[in-house]
Amino acid sequence: MELWQQMVRDSVHSVDQLVEKFGIDRHVAEGLDEFFQARINPYYLGLIRYPGDPIWRQCVPDKAELEDLEGFEDPLQEDLMSPVPNITHRYPDRALFLTTSQCGMYCRFCTRKRKVGNSDKISMKELESAFKYLEKHTEIRDVIMSGGDPLMLTDVMLEKILKRLRQIPHIEIIRIGSKMPCVLPHRITQKLVDMIKKYHPVYVNTHFNHPWEITPESTKACEMLANAGIPVSNQAVLMKGVNDDADVMKELFTKLLKIRVRPYYLYMADETRGANHFRTSLDTGLEIMQKLRGYTSGLAVPHFVIDAPGGGGKIPVLPQYVLHRDEDRIVMKNYKGEIFVYREAHSQNAVPEVKVPVEVVEKNNGNGNGNNGNGSNGNGNGSSKKTKNYKEKVEVTEIPASNN
Ligand code: SF4
Repeated sequence: MELWQQMVRDSVHSVDQLVEKFGIDRHVAEGLDEFFQARINPYYLGLIRYPGDPIWRQCVPDKAELEDLEGFEDPLQEDLMSPVPNITHRYPDRALFLTTSQCGMYCRFCTRKRKVGNSDKISMKELESAFKYLEKHTEIRDVIMSGGDPLMLTDVMLEKILKRLRQIPHIEIIRIGSKMPCVLPHRITQKLVDMIKKYHPVYVNTHFNHPWEITPESTKACEMLANAGIPVSNQAVLMKGVNDDADVMKELFTKLLKIRVRPYYLYMADETRGANHFRTSLDTGLEIMQKLRGYTSGLAVPHFVIDAPGGGGKIPVLPQYVLHRDEDRIVMKNYKGEIFVYREAHSQNAVPEVKVPVEVVEKNNGNGNGNNGNGSNGNGNGSSKKTKNYKEKVEVTEIPASNN
């Protein structure tokens, strides 16, 4: 048995352990165990600094999970978009391939808890209908192996799957979605990366949510992947009490870059049953994004998305930078709230002297320093601010704030 397998075996998982280690009421612990079992391996357990901290909240069951009656079992309707077992085909040229139900840790916010934790192993035989589907659908050029966590598979099983996928000529890239570099980095061994690199191009999407998860062990794991030519990117989830703070996010994303992991997505938390206590307002996410863009390298700024309920796919959301657009120009504000005008190509020589209405969607913070995020002086008296690049040509007139 490899070290990582021993660590999975030694995880906190039973009702007795939840009662003893975390002081959870036995009756509640039994309910939680039935709802979504716990698995906290010794490595991740060791990252907890105090009860209720951002690491604790991600892994220790909470009675709030049982009080949530509003969320959905399958908020992204993955099962409805599953033409054969273990495949979700939502986007035109890529497919999600579920290869295991096991994970190195069971995250309390998991969107797929309806599927995860089931101890029945999926055999190669059971994956056959998925392989057949992938073979038949020549439009699929990108397969995302997920689960559960594909790196819970043994090297032998994982290689069988990779080899089989590589026999399908139209599959150009393979992505492995794995939380192991974060929650159980001991899984990333030299033997594993040497095996994976035979099947390039292979990418890994991992999942760090808090800077405390970046440790010497997880650093080493991510560097081993990168050294094997496997690009690693990160998908974080915005969660109340975990990372709903711009400084925490900036620290996370800049530290990820240092360990050669590219911040790729920041998700609004899904409307998953038992995880609603993690959800924040959209404004919280937009404020964080606004405090990142321009203030740190673009490489450290992920796409902020909502995975649309009902299976609509990822929809990017941005703070309001475009204030006005017409056939001649786009009026925009930069990260400091300063206003600029970009002329459309056909109107390079014709910028008529007109007032351009600007919809102000954010509230004035009252400091009047021009950095109030609403693209105007914010003095509320209807005065206008001239743009920097076309001072004498275009005036931008503030109109009242809207809640839309
Ligand atoms: S590793 Fe992924 S699939 Fe597994 S419990 Fe965590 S979020 Fe869910």
